[in-house]
Amino acid sequence: MTTSCHLLDSAAQRAAAESWSYTHFLGYLLEAELAQRHRKRVELNLQFAKFPVIKRFEDFQFDQQPSVDRRLIDELATGRFLSEGRSVVLLGPPGVGKTHLATALGVRTAELGHRVYFTTAIELAHKLTKAVDANRLHRDLNTLTQPKLLIIDEVGYLSFDPVQGSLLFQVICKRYQRQQPICLTSNKAFSDWGKVFADDPVMASAALDRLLHRSTVINITGESYRLREKKRANKSKNADH
Ligand code: ADP
Ligand code: MG
Repeated sequence: MTTSCHLLDSAAQRAAAESWSYTHFLGYLLEAELAQRHRKRVELNLQFAKFPVIKRFEDFQFDQQPSVDRRLIDELATGRFLSEGRSVVLLGPPGVGKTHLATALGVRTAELGHRVYFTTAIELAHKLTKAVDANRLHRDLNTLTQPKLLIIDEVGYLSFDPVQGSLLFQVICKRYQRQQPICLTSNKAFSDWGKVFADDPVMASAALDRLLHRSTVINITGESYRLREKKRANKSKNADH
């Protein structure tokens, strides 16, 4: 109740001056208290998430990326997918905004008051391989079911060995069983996921089955945003000469 304590004197003065009712006075203090608690929670959620960079939907130029359905993103931004246990898969070549949108989804989740954790596929595989060695896989897998949303970025950039493949599979299974959403990005089409799972097409299709059972898939096409920006910059530089 620290916020209410701080506000108490000034609120009491205002209440007297403006003849507030008791309920209005209490509502004023409680609202301030709740807002402050929410801000703190969001701050902690953002720290916990380990986003490489904070990105928001507001920074995404949808007109530069016509293959992304704005309405679909707006719907995801409501956070309904979280309670529905719906996963989100962002596919596309490098530079088209997959990590940006995955991060924005995570930031929104944090702002809605939920825990979220961002990791890359290879980071996750390394972490879990270490957990196997230290005999604490069970514990670490359980930890990955704590956040409301788990973001696994860059699935398929580097191929997994069989152990790493099975570890990623276990993460997907565990969260699926509990209807907990995953947001995953990949540069590989689903048909190439056998390679992601160490040339094990059975495991790949079992993983996809679970991931896609309740999901929104966003296929982004087109050229890298960075390259386009560069080309645009060069063009305007040349035009100046
Ligand atoms: P990917 O993960 O698909 O390789 P990123 O999300 O890392 O691509 O995007 C590369 C860079 O370009 C990032 O800095 C990102 O913020 C920016 N970017 C990509 N697409 C857009 C867009 N449509 N509007 C604004 N910035 C974008
Ligand atoms: Mg990326």
